[in-house]
Amino acid sequence: MDWRTHEAITDTVGRLLDLSDELRKELIEHARSPDVSPDYTVTVRVTYSGRIRPRVARLKHHEFPRWRLRRMVESSRRLWLRGRAKGAVRKLGRVLHYIQDGFIPSPSRDRRAHDSIENACSRVSPQSILKEVSLHRPVGRRETLKFLDRIRAKNSGLEAVKSALEVSYAVTSSVLSDPNPPEELRRHAESVLTRVRSGRSVIVPLFVIVLTYVPFLWLLSPPTALFLTLPLIVLPCLWLSASLMPGLGKPLWAVCRIGVWTGITVAASLISSLVAWGAEPVLIPAPLAVAPIVVVPYLLFLRGARLGVLRSELGWFLWQ
Ligand SMILES: [Zn+2]
Repeated sequence: MDWRTHEAITDTVGRLLDLSDELRKELIEHARSPDVSPDYTVTVRVTYSGRIRPRVARLKHHEFPRWRLRRMVESSRRLWLRGRAKGAVRKLGRVLHYIQDGFIPSPSRDRRAHDSIENACSRVSPQSILKEVSLHRPVGRRETLKFLDRIRAKNSGLEAVKSALEVSYAVTSSVLSDPNPPEELRRHAESVLTRVRSGRSVIVPLFVIVLTYVPFLWLLSPPTALFLTLPLIVLPCLWLSASLMPGLGKPLWAVCRIGVWTGITVAASLISSLVAWGAEPVLIPAPLAVAPIVVVPYLLFLRGARLGVLRSELGWFLWQ
């Protein structure tokens, strides 16, 4: 897109969201900046003589890697949560540039289509089409990132500007939104923590026993299997933090990781038993006993807790 089109779309978004003049100017300036200072990626290539050489390549604006765009959105949100408004807006400006370019056919695929749609875009005034666009304000990380899936080349200038405006507005509104989680999500998090805290009388003794069981396993395990006892340190620490720590943020962080570490612990206990089978069959039950011990509290206190939702929104809000 022409830099003036980037500027016009970004300015409209800033005005619709009522950004301060300072932030709006910063956003516009950085929505132009990738044309002057592009982003790069490092790839590795193998030469004919079999050597490995790194290669630095400029990222294409019209086919910007989606995973990288997601990462940039998340990092500008993190800056916003830390109170670094200018830094957040600078990064967000670059995101908007790539979002907007994504609606124009890539010049490396079809030069003529690119040029003609880019020209058509420059004749569309975003302000004049406000009645024709549907503007949404997504809430949370998942809803916001879904808007990035809408990015694809359009075959008319008007459609390209409309879509670029809709997605730019949605992403900007969400990244610069209230740091506090919405009420419903907060209630969900609190109810999960209440369940875990109410099980303290079971959780605390159980996982203290599991922790004291670890040195015993160290004595029994062959040295090659020692790393398999690592989950038996991590998982109890997560459970104890989740059930004993005050506040919302830190215990929630621990709760969100319990599911994954329960899976890792069960897998590690099965592998440990297989290792024991080869070395000392009489020791098989020692690591195997761990699996039910860690699965039962998960089923008791976290079954149906929809931890995936909390995990995905954990870094998007400030949980205080
Ligand atoms: Zn560009």
